[in-house]
Amino acid sequence: MIMQEALFYGPYKNALKCTLCPHLCLISEGNLGACAVRKNIDGKLYSLVYGKTITHAVDPIEKKPLFHFYPGSKIFSYATAGCNFKCAFCQNWEISQISKGKEGEIIGKNITPSKIVDLAIKSKCSSIAMTYNEPSIQFEYALDVCKEAKKKNLKTVFVSNGYICKEPIDMLSGYLDAINIDLKSFNDEFYKKICGARLEPVLDAIKHYHSKNIWIEITTLVIPGENDSNDELRRIAEFIASIDKNMPWHISRFHPDYKMTKNKITPIETLTSAYDIGKRAGLHHVYVGNVPGNRRENTYCNLCGKLLIKRANYQVTENNIFDNKCRFCGEKIAGFF
Ligand code: SF4
Repeated sequence: MIMQEALFYGPYKNALKCTLCPHLCLISEGNLGACAVRKNIDGKLYSLVYGKTITHAVDPIEKKPLFHFYPGSKIFSYATAGCNFKCAFCQNWEISQISKGKEGEIIGKNITPSKIVDLAIKSKCSSIAMTYNEPSIQFEYALDVCKEAKKKNLKTVFVSNGYICKEPIDMLSGYLDAINIDLKSFNDEFYKKICGARLEPVLDAIKHYHSKNIWIEITTLVIPGENDSNDELRRIAEFIASIDKNMPWHISRFHPDYKMTKNKITPIETLTSAYDIGKRAGLHHVYVGNVPGNRRENTYCNLCGKLLIKRANYQVTENNIFDNKCRFCGEKIAGFF
């Protein structure tokens, strides 16, 4: 196992305090933090997932989802084990919640940061995503992958729950290019009950990433009976608009999974209503996801309303953005095209 000392921790009474994410775990000798991948060994905190890739694949960038960041391109995607959330609806729970092998070893294959970059180049990808589980818990590995990627002119992306402290975001600045952040709810009780976390630090992280000029798109999985009231969706939309009306908002359809098999699939009407709420809040780009063939997964010009990017099955089938501008009226479209 590659042992990499953690970048964010310090002594606290008879233990160590991890300052990577807002859980701020106090970890005594021989124990793990809540993410199960940071361990106090002889008074030092180590990441157990440095260089340990549990899975990797080549995805369309639309799958992250990122719709305003090099649409139509391929992105090399990888994950390590563990997570700092315990979402009852997790679609990747086999990766996020099962981090240890039979011998107590962290599961994963040893792949160095430069090897990740080589694999991305060989796969003809122009970017690399740390995705499928929460990337901030592999912080040291992810940062080194971002640095190696920069040397080869590849872009880097986090697909994240946004549960990270400000100092690590500062360190990512200049290396990380884009992020999709799940804003799962606007209700602290939801975060506590379903994810084992809190709302406020996620809102703070979104603002902080934005202040560092890292491109952000937001995703909300709308779960019937949990976070689907018009009032809650309006508060999410207004929060995003208060930071930047150009920040895309992806409203995603829930399918029963993991420990949430009793909740129903999200009705199309709820997603359509959320879309309208986002537009009324002033957001320029709102998308409905997980509903194949829905016209709300296309990009429309905010000024003239014409179709700019048409999507089907995570593929771009038409693109009318040139030089970051609408081909029809010349309006500037936020993002990277
Ligand atoms: S990164 Fe892991 S160990 Fe550190 S505070 Fe968060 S959950 Fe705890």
